[in-house]
Amino acid sequence: MANEFKNKDEFIKEFKKRIIRHFGCSIERAHITEKYMILGEMVRDHASENWNLTKDVISEKQEKQMYYFSMEFLMGRLLTNNLMNLGIYDIVKEGLDELGIDINDLEEMESDAGLGNGGLGRLAACFLDSLASLNLAGHGNCIRYEYGLFKQKIEHNEQVEVPDKWLSLGNVWEVRKPKHSVDVKFGGRVEMWMGEDGKAVVNHIPSLVVRAVPYDMPIIGQNTATTNTLRLWSAEVADDACDASSLNEYVNEVREICRNVYPDDSTEHGKLLRLKQQYFFVSAGIYNIIESHLRTYGSLDNFADKVAIQLNDTHPVLCIPELMRILLDEYRFEWDDAWEMTKKTMAYTNHTVLSEALEKWPVQYVRELLPRIYMIIEEIDNRFKYHLSHDFGRPDLIDSCAIIKEGQVHMAHLAIVGSHSVNGVAALHTRILKEDVMKSFYELYPEKFNNKTNGITHRRWLLHSNPQLTDLLEKTIGPQFKTNPDKLTDLMQYVDDEKLQTQFMEVKLERKKILADYIKKTLNIEVDIHSIFDVQAKRLHAYKRQLLNILNIMDLYFRMKNDPNYRIYPRTFIFAAKAAPSYTFAKEVIKLIHCVADKVNNDPEISKYMKVVFIPNYGVSIAEILMNAADVSEQISTAGKEASGTGNMKFMMNGAITLGTMDGANVEIVERVGFENAEIFGLRADDVALIRRENSYDVWRKYHENANIHRIIDALTDGTFSSNPNDFKLIYNELMFKNDEYLLLADYDAYAHARTNIERRYQDKRGWAKMCLINIAQSAFFSSDRTIRQYAEEIWNLKAVELD
Ligand SMILES: *Cc1c(COP(=O)(O)O)cnc(C)c1O
Repeated sequence: MANEFKNKDEFIKEFKKRIIRHFGCSIERAHITEKYMILGEMVRDHASENWNLTKDVISEKQEKQMYYFSMEFLMGRLLTNNLMNLGIYDIVKEGLDELGIDINDLEEMESDAGLGNGGLGRLAACFLDSLASLNLAGHGNCIRYEYGLFKQKIEHNEQVEVPDKWLSLGNVWEVRKPKHSVDVKFGGRVEMWMGEDGKAVVNHIPSLVVRAVPYDMPIIGQNTATTNTLRLWSAEVADDACDASSLNEYVNEVREICRNVYPDDSTEHGKLLRLKQQYFFVSAGIYNIIESHLRTYGSLDNFADKVAIQLNDTHPVLCIPELMRILLDEYRFEWDDAWEMTKKTMAYTNHTVLSEALEKWPVQYVRELLPRIYMIIEEIDNRFKYHLSHDFGRPDLIDSCAIIKEGQVHMAHLAIVGSHSVNGVAALHTRILKEDVMKSFYELYPEKFNNKTNGITHRRWLLHSNPQLTDLLEKTIGPQFKTNPDKLTDLMQYVDDEKLQTQFMEVKLERKKILADYIKKTLNIEVDIHSIFDVQAKRLHAYKRQLLNILNIMDLYFRMKNDPNYRIYPRTFIFAAKAAPSYTFAKEVIKLIHCVADKVNNDPEISKYMKVVFIPNYGVSIAEILMNAADVSEQISTAGKEASGTGNMKFMMNGAITLGTMDGANVEIVERVGFENAEIFGLRADDVALIRRENSYDVWRKYHENANIHRIIDALTDGTFSSNPNDFKLIYNELMFKNDEYLLLADYDAYAHARTNIERRYQDKRGWAKMCLINIAQSAFFSSDRTIRQYAEEIWNLKAVELD
């Protein structure tokens, strides 16, 4: 180990020296942000030695590498994670203590790297942590967004979006690598002629050239030298890309590419920009991989043996035609050889069955922005259609499976045809892909389809964010689970141990206290830490049904108001959720939650029994204090809609009970803990499908038959929760005039009943603690280490690298 982290004194010496060298001032005069930056720099420099070693060994031993292409990496903060994975947290903490610096204060200086929207981006981040920790050579490719996902503030009960200036202190983890810059070409026209070798020569004369400059971040594994790379691409002006007259316009056009994470593509300009982003990082990333491959092997013939590329949803699917383009046009491969190589390299993960989220691009956009790429997609489509008729004998499938149809490019179809593996992210999700959404493709290519149930890294979501529970587990089952999360199942032997049950409840109370303090500090709301903490934290979306949750809270409020004998066990209902800026319905739900909260929390009688809290700016750092303080994990999506969920796993690993539908990975949670250790309610996916097929649901019947439902629906618009008559009309209309698309009222009674069950079960303290312990033990399966091992063995054919 390098000297500076060998012991406390060496650390202090180096820390002081660097502060003076870097900022020209002593520790006493240095600002806290400067102390943070120096600590980060020291950790990065320290990691750089292993980073270099990893690169050397990979190329010496000619190891296969995997590249995870994702438009999103929701990394959160990295300081604690890196210090702990490097095993130097305690030394640094002691050293800082001696200097009178609280390590927590430095940790708070770091901005979340919020390069993503939600689950899909967080999955990518968990995967990177697992890859490095399992000694697998797997790297990330993404965009270096100037602003992360917006910060959410609440003003007058409504969401306000504020830019997330995450780079304002710089990014201490990144290293700019101009030597690996790539020029990416857009627009213009394509000239072709027949070359002497009888193959087409292609000359693309672009109308826009953008320089892609990589910034590399080390991805540090746990107790290992393996250090992978997250490569973030930033757009800059190219050398001679335009004439001076339009210089400003050009600069703006370039800047725009990496400005924002797109939560929102409601405008045409926004849509085109998103396509530009996609090609920008795909083109730069693929070019770079090819260059590096050639440096090691001098030939591309073994490319597919040494490179695996995983496409995180359809956003990076342009990797397929881009690799084809380079192989065909620049390295003059025959089509069939290039195609076999491309398919063998690429694998695609599907993340959604919501039809509005299945990506399609107007032909005109692709043709104008990426003329050569469009030609290649067209050729892929033509050959695929020929193949369907002549080899598969299935001309009947041409209409449903075409890549280009009705003036649009269907990215999921391109992904399936152009890769060797298509995976869903939970067993139920994969089944729905095979049987419904991608049925025709499954008939054609059954061997491509496979399931990889999502996971989360227990390092961030247990060891780092819940040291209290980690200590208790270590005392009970020993330390092995820290490096081998499978060992969590050892806890099963102790779930009946009364002492352990009590200790667990104490740990939970401690985490609830930490969250309660945060709520008091940021929102000035007092919550009762002995009440049930009932938490729903996730992006705001109709199918996730936060509305069902708040409707039931309204119901409980009315019942208590109208009947002085009806009282619930004290409960704190906690929400956290960002809504996409253009998603008006979702924003209206946020407003409703706040208006109900105002009413409930300010009612001196009712607020003894319940509080409603909305924690703003949900992101990784909030999740780190929220998940582990929950007693109840709300996972209440309409069955069949949530592909997997990963929030459900974080709650489970920290000992919360799932109150949920049989959807996504909830199904697999219940499979492991048993129905008796979860609270499952509502329609199943097959029921939902049947209701749709038979068109047998009528929201108005529910409304007229059920007095409680009648009352809460009326309360949306009768002024109970807002004096503005326009408020919540949209919600009312979505429910009542679109026949309650997400079946909230169909599941209402079952949900209300499930919530009452929870309250009864919570009062049996021993029984409750036992359930929580069983959930923790069974969360072993949901470690992303398990998920990544499955990808490595079944899709990537990737083996652990040995560095010593
Ligand atoms: C885990 C996580 C998610 C995903 O939550 P789901 O409940 O699976 O939708 C979203 N955002 C953040 C910040 C997370 O940590």
